[in-house]
Amino acid sequence: MFERDDHFIGGRWVSARGGEALEVVSPATEQVVGRVPVAITEEIDAAVSAARVAFDDGPWPRMSLAERGDHLRRFADAIEARREQVLQLQIDEMGMVYKFAVENINGIRPSLERYLADAKKVDFREVRDGAIGKVLVLREPIGVVAGVTPWNSPIAVEVSKIFPSLLMGCPIIVKPAPESPLSAYLLGEAAIEAGLPEGVLSIVNGGVPAGAYLVGHPGIDHVTFTGSTGGGHAIAKACAGQFRAVTLELGGKSAAIILPGTDMTDYIPSLVGGSLRNSGQICVSTNRVIVHEDDQDRIVEQLVDHISSLKLGDPHDPETDFGPLAAKRQLDNVERFVASGKAEGAKVVLGGGRPADRPTGWYFEPTVFVDVDNRMEIAQEEIFGPVLSVITYSDKAEAVAIANDSKYGLGGAVFATDPEEAIEVASQIVTGTVQVNGGPPAGGGGPFAGRKHSGLGAERAVEGLETFLELKSVTLPAGYEPATV
Ligand code: NAD
Repeated sequence: MFERDDHFIGGRWVSARGGEALEVVSPATEQVVGRVPVAITEEIDAAVSAARVAFDDGPWPRMSLAERGDHLRRFADAIEARREQVLQLQIDEMGMVYKFAVENINGIRPSLERYLADAKKVDFREVRDGAIGKVLVLREPIGVVAGVTPWNSPIAVEVSKIFPSLLMGCPIIVKPAPESPLSAYLLGEAAIEAGLPEGVLSIVNGGVPAGAYLVGHPGIDHVTFTGSTGGGHAIAKACAGQFRAVTLELGGKSAAIILPGTDMTDYIPSLVGGSLRNSGQICVSTNRVIVHEDDQDRIVEQLVDHISSLKLGDPHDPETDFGPLAAKRQLDNVERFVASGKAEGAKVVLGGGRPADRPTGWYFEPTVFVDVDNRMEIAQEEIFGPVLSVITYSDKAEAVAIANDSKYGLGGAVFATDPEEAIEVASQIVTGTVQVNGGPPAGGGGPFAGRKHSGLGAERAVEGLETFLELKSVTLPAGYEPATV
């Protein structure tokens, strides 16, 4: 049992003053595994004012990039030093399987190094030709940031807010999802061990009310949100009212197009991982698999064989591939979607229900539907569970049209014998990222930016770092040549 009665505010542990608590239930055992306090408004105010002092008067935004980078490397070291605890708490709080938790923590260091390398490409002080003389274009830290995050990959998403924000000189207050607040305590401990300066990082717990209070707080300059499209819509509206900059990484319903005749033998693990990893609870899940009508039988057989060889069970077991869904609410949603698919005429060829040998825990079998029409609810709505739909096409143009017939535009994949043909198809898909022949997901270190109802603005890469910066043009008289550094 993980129990705490404090919050991480401005770089130190502060005893909670409110009476409300988040009780965290293990999705595998349905037992309470943790209890932490919900932040009251005065505690969120304290976090924002600590960040304001750090931004307005403190050393952090005035430090060199290299100094901030050194702090963040020490922070990453301190997270890695807690590796086993990070793994176990995420498994306990949201049922993430050990394998995926390992993948997540192994990604922390490379993701920081990527940000550090990309930061060197940001032009903080650029001299341009202006209307009459030179213009000095400055890119300055945007201010105090609120980072609101989901439960599906707690630590990975939290650091994807903290690293770029702090690297660009912006103190940040993170509000983790109420389903997964436990592992975030380790980030507070790591920040203390790394010696992050006062005020630059706070972590406040709570649900929608705490999140709404934080993003609407007058002391916040920028909001970076990852979560559902509904949540993003509410946050965008709150930010619009205050002309506040916001980056939104939202839901998806991505498609994997398999071009005619592609031998999928080597790619099936990538296709299955890309759609069903984390029990399908990944935003970029390519769970609409679009296959040529002549290839359907072969590819469905390969999919079913491969998925059947994977293990469903205890998420703590290093061999497990499919754990429980993160919340009872998620399980109920998945059951409702599967019933809707059947009612609309789709056929289940694998799974379709709760596993009989797992009466306890929010488990659902990995499920494959065929005879799916793209207009069905299971093909249009984000299920966020282990459900994959196979949809057929007769020519390439139809495959692209099916992929694009979605309100979402987050991820995508194309598999083809000729990678150039795959790239050509990728260019026609209206999404922010596309994987070709098993390339890495979510942009692979390039910009990650959802289109349509999947988001606003970019994360990662130079473009993501620049969302934490404001532009200033300093105009100069004719003939004056400013220094560039
Ligand atoms: P959610 O929108 O319910 O909650 C996400 C976070 O936002 C939580 O911390 C929640 O408390 C907070 N929140 C929700 N509504 C809010 C509001 N009106 N004001 C302030 N805060 C609010 O999402 P979830 O169920 O936790 O996560 C699953 C969703 O996240 C899926 O739709 C998934 O696709 C999406 N997601 C997207 C990405 C991406 O990068 N695009 C990555 C992971 C998850």
